[in-house]
Amino acid sequence: MEATTSLLDADAVGDLVLLDPLTEESLLHTLQERFRRSDIYTYIGNVVISVNPYQSLPIYTPEKVQEYRNCNFFAVKPHIYAIADDAYRSLRDRDRDQCILITGESGAGKTEASKLVMSYVAAVCSKGEEVDRVKEQLLQSNPVLEAFGNAKTVRNDNSSRFGKYMDVEFDFKGEPLGGVISNYLLEKSRVIRHVKGERNFHIFYQLLAGGSAQLLQQLKLCQDCRHYGYLNWESSGLPGVDDAANFHAMQDAMRVIGFSPAEVTALLEVTAVVLKLGNVQLSSSYQASGMEASSIAEPQELQEICELIGLDPGILERALCSRTVKARDETVLTTLSVPQGYYGRDALAKNIYSRLFDWLVNRINTSIQVKPGKQRKVMGVLDIYGFEIFQDNGFEQFIINYCNEKLQQIFILMTLKEEQEEYIREGIQWTPVEFFDNSIICNLIENSKCGILAMLDEECLRPGVVNEDTFLTKLNQLFATHKHYESRETQNARHVMDASLPLQCFRIHHYAGKVTYNVTGFIERNNDLLFRDLSQAMWAARHTLLRSLFPEGDPQKVSLKLPPTAGFQFKASVATLMKNLYSKNPNYIRCIKPNETKTAMVFTPELVLAQIRYLGLMENVRVRRAGYAFRQLYGPFLERYKMLSPRTWPRWAGSDREGAEVLLAELAFPPEELAFGHTKIFIRSPRTLFDLEGSRQER
Ligand code: ADP
Ligand code: MG
Repeated sequence: MEATTSLLDADAVGDLVLLDPLTEESLLHTLQERFRRSDIYTYIGNVVISVNPYQSLPIYTPEKVQEYRNCNFFAVKPHIYAIADDAYRSLRDRDRDQCILITGESGAGKTEASKLVMSYVAAVCSKGEEVDRVKEQLLQSNPVLEAFGNAKTVRNDNSSRFGKYMDVEFDFKGEPLGGVISNYLLEKSRVIRHVKGERNFHIFYQLLAGGSAQLLQQLKLCQDCRHYGYLNWESSGLPGVDDAANFHAMQDAMRVIGFSPAEVTALLEVTAVVLKLGNVQLSSSYQASGMEASSIAEPQELQEICELIGLDPGILERALCSRTVKARDETVLTTLSVPQGYYGRDALAKNIYSRLFDWLVNRINTSIQVKPGKQRKVMGVLDIYGFEIFQDNGFEQFIINYCNEKLQQIFILMTLKEEQEEYIREGIQWTPVEFFDNSIICNLIENSKCGILAMLDEECLRPGVVNEDTFLTKLNQLFATHKHYESRETQNARHVMDASLPLQCFRIHHYAGKVTYNVTGFIERNNDLLFRDLSQAMWAARHTLLRSLFPEGDPQKVSLKLPPTAGFQFKASVATLMKNLYSKNPNYIRCIKPNETKTAMVFTPELVLAQIRYLGLMENVRVRRAGYAFRQLYGPFLERYKMLSPRTWPRWAGSDREGAEVLLAELAFPPEELAFGHTKIFIRSPRTLFDLEGSRQER
């Protein structure tokens, strides 16, 4: 029973529910001490915290898989496999759909954790030709999605730039049948943007490094990264990463999933178009009227793009350099200035890429989806960006943090619900628990009548010149007295002196901390408009895949209604996700990044403390031990502690429950410390458990 001892080791408890006293310092200290011992996993009840080791530890071997297979959760060291095993068994044997929610900041190890869960489940469920095929397809979706959706950032060399939720579906025997993937908010601005030390999406570098001469020629690409304006060639090569090999692995993965060679070609053609769009140069000229106009500076690149997609270059040129504006019954072609032209070009590149990514996810789903009508059990895995607080926070952070606020809400609801259900199941009195209800913050953001997102949409729909000032003014009026909202104006009204809040910003007091958002760019990001001329040009192309990405370009279908805003779409997808999660039994993996330098064995306390707050771990522990900190089945409990009473030692002849009752009566704990459920003993405070443990060790 060495492992259980580690769970109860007072210097470094394996379960933070047992922390005594519970303070931020003791929590931090425990994680640090465990990290030092290479114990990267720690529980809060059935929540697992994972601290990124930044080195490969020998804890994911097939032997480890065997060790955790059908293990008793409390009898082995905390491990992500234990959560995976518990979830999988509960799904298979108790017919309860599961979800695994993985959160944490960039580089904390979320994606690796999701892969560990998937590979564990794949390893323990049964084998067979059909099952193996399904497993392979599910696992191979990773390299494909990572090629197109991941990039090197300052924080993580393989950072997922999209949120992912995957339902894996099983039959009644627990064998995988297939799955469905949903993706959230691809960071499409990365397609056109340069940040020092970061890269564009992996696929571009992979394609140039790994594509054969023949393929590159077919795609009208050259091998040299430096040739492409959208690529950050300064950091094009990554140490330890073989782009060419990854390209081949990605191609193999597509074959396994079931992409036809024609589909792969079409996909790469559209990818090449995005890259080449970045090289289309505009120059300015003046019309006879004196208006500034733009024209294509050097037609070669445009010509090649059009050859790739089967489009008359004149059409694309017109769409890039001018714009049709409807004024009353007239349509007028107006010229675009050079900056406007580049804006349109970049918007087109971003749109093509993000729609291509959506197509990719759908295409994978077509291969892995389960035929309708089959009875199935589901395990959902969510790998999504955690709470973000940067120096400058914009629309993206606002949206991401909103999602995390919702995840926190559902965490509290589900944990309490689960606790309550267990108490009812065990026949124990349930007393309501005090906890911080963050609905008020969710509501501030998402209320469909007067939430911040609704106000933003209203502003975006207003005809005429819109800007963020009126948006902010409106928020200031609406939320003048809101406890979780703050801006310069509301501060002045409340006589708060605080120069740290700039004028064009508002601040939200999230459950995880205060975040200041700059409203600049909110309207543009939310509108996410693509000039209609550009979508019509894309639709006019003969390239089947490309044109299918721009259905609104069909002139027959032109409607005056604006497409839904980015905020509106995100809110809707978050609502769907929450509903889906709420119908399942939750399992949490909270990931922590120990240092900023991606190094092994370095633990920066300040950095971890910030994450402890963003992840809401203190609240997590409080909610978890709202009623009883510890619970265990009578059998294992008696087995461990029966030595403490001559009446139960060495053998107890009655039932396990009676044994536990006799034993605990003799030790004379205060009655409110204990509750006897139908199958489990419940212990209220960690102190009692440590007393038990202490007496046991004295023997
Ligand atoms: P996130 O998805 O949270 O941004 P990743 O899962 O991509 O982070 O992890 C970032 C990097 O950290 C990985 O590429 C890997 O090098 C390292 N890493 C993460 N988890 C582990 C682990 N369990 N063992 C070893 N290294 C890990
Ligand atoms: Mg990731």
